[in-house]
Amino acid sequence: MASWAVLTEQTVWISPLATGFTVICDRCAELGETFPSVHATLSLEHLRGTIDCPRGHQIRVERDGR
Ligand SMILES: [Zn+2]
Repeated sequence: MASWAVLTEQTVWISPLATGFTVICDRCAELGETFPSVHATLSLEHLRGTIDCPRGHQIRVERDGR
């Protein structure tokens, strides 16, 4: 059931109490970026969010530990 959305969408999981974190953008890594990490924040009242890497790739963030 692969689709364009599945292929391009990235989801990262963060720990239940994380408010600031650094994730790796897989798309940038595939493109050969030497430093593909993205720093982002998500306040504790949010269970999920969406961030954009510097090159415009969307990364979904899901808080673990429901
Ligand atoms: Zn990227």
